[in-house]
Amino acid sequence: MKPNPNHQEVAEFRELLRGAGLRSTAPRLAVLRVLGKSKSPLTHAEIADMLVPLGYDKATVFRNLNDLADVDLVTRTELGDHAWRFELRDPSDPTSGRHPHFVCVDCGSVTCLTDVEFNDATKRRAAQIGQVTEILLKGHCTSCR
Ligand SMILES: [Zn+2]
Ligand SMILES: [Zn+2]
Repeated sequence: MKPNPNHQEVAEFRELLRGAGLRSTAPRLAVLRVLGKSKSPLTHAEIADMLVPLGYDKATVFRNLNDLADVDLVTRTELGDHAWRFELRDPSDPTSGRHPHFVCVDCGSVTCLTDVEFNDATKRRAAQIGQVTEILLKGHCTSCR
């Protein structure tokens, strides 16, 4: 039998779901695989575009995205364009998925800035202002500049 390159990944996702108390269902595994392959957060529409041809309907994809977000396996972010974007997070790292994003004002592409962090003084200042839910940088990406 030929080794299946996806086998290990599926086993890891099953383990993640079990750890979060969710059943491993085909749509949940499909959603996790799409998010696992992406380097940036994806909208529901983008995820549905990939999964509808595989036989999952949009409502199923949306429901499962929200199930995964509810148990913190996936983060939901809103980057100012009224679209939720979803991103896989590492449940063993409490800060995973809580990073700033760069949005290109020309093409709308989103980049994760996992190494950009508030320093302590900025964190204190932010806490005085309110609860920061998203840090957003905007500009022209290298392919649009
Ligand atoms: Zn761009
Ligand atoms: Zn991100």
